[in-house]
Amino acid sequence: MAEQVLIFDTTLRDGEQSPGAAMGVREKLEIAKQLQRLQVDIIEAGFPVSSKEQFDAVRIVADEVRGPVIAALARCVKQDVDAAAEALKGAVRPRIHVFLATSEIHRRYKLKKAKDEILKAAVEMTAYAKTLCPDVEFSPEDASRTELDFLAEVFDAVVEAGAATVNIPDTVGYALPNEFGEVIRYLRNETKHGKDVVISVHCHNDLGLAVANSLAGVMSGARQVECTVNGLGERAGNCSLEEIVMVMKVRQALLGFETSIVTEQLYPASMLLTELISFGPQPNKAIVGENAFAHEAGIHQDGYLKERTTYEIIDPRAVGVPESRLVLGKHSGRHALNQRCEDLGFRLSREELNEVYRQFTLAADERKKGLNNDEILELIRQVVKHQAVGS
Ligand code: MN
Repeated sequence: MAEQVLIFDTTLRDGEQSPGAAMGVREKLEIAKQLQRLQVDIIEAGFPVSSKEQFDAVRIVADEVRGPVIAALARCVKQDVDAAAEALKGAVRPRIHVFLATSEIHRRYKLKKAKDEILKAAVEMTAYAKTLCPDVEFSPEDASRTELDFLAEVFDAVVEAGAATVNIPDTVGYALPNEFGEVIRYLRNETKHGKDVVISVHCHNDLGLAVANSLAGVMSGARQVECTVNGLGERAGNCSLEEIVMVMKVRQALLGFETSIVTEQLYPASMLLTELISFGPQPNKAIVGENAFAHEAGIHQDGYLKERTTYEIIDPRAVGVPESRLVLGKHSGRHALNQRCEDLGFRLSREELNEVYRQFTLAADERKKGLNNDEILELIRQVVKHQAVGS
């Protein structure tokens, strides 16, 4: 039996904090409804105290989205916790997520507070949040750069104050997988309350390790991953939801984890976010990038057409990518083009195929990019004036 790993989506909070990704209340609700279709376990809908629009967005998601837990972020400040509780009033399963930085560099330069003051504020505000909401999560910000003994002290203290989830952020994307895994293992196995709560991970991608670090955390005992659609988020982004979910699904036999995600909704989620914020993932992005399932080289296409698993570890349909997304380019072979023509309803004679292929390579060469189905259809129509398959 695979063990369940909770998916905590923070596209609407951390994701929205990235440059160019600002969303209005209506857009946020649309994303939240797609997250509901994905069946994420927790939606972090925003940071209510930060602005009226943030407050309204959290409130409308809490009022209208059913299924996932709805979380709202708060600093260890009473006013923040009050705003979060107020915004979450309409939620069936609300969660207040309080955070406070614990690392030496943040204590000294940002907060100008000593360890004991940090510990006191973390405990007080966790306990206060607990009086307003039955489900409280605590995050020691910059946990991965915090002294391990102090991190463990804060961990046990906030659990005693009522936190049911303790999230361990690699806030600046600095950790290495083995190092981050060791932090999680230590908190899980060497603290008083490591086995009494859900340990969560929240990794950033500054060194391109957000997914690897999150996976290392899960393999060391974490059972919640904070992530975003398209890996959107501050700076280089957060752990990509679609990647961490598909890692656990594709390699489930080895890893032994499962999630509740309806993977066929991954690509639609990516497309919706792209449309709403006006920029998408890079073409070579795993799972949802434009080229993630493109096989252009002739040898690859030949193998793929004989048996798709020769070059494909994920069926595109399993993540909701429609077949028509597979573009044919100038490196594509005649065999692949013929297959596509058949998929589009045309069975060509040898002469017709030769002519379509000739025109196809000319067009692909000229434009330096692949042709989609509509464009291929147009070429076929120019060459063949009749005879659709089956007619
Ligand atoms: Mn973050």
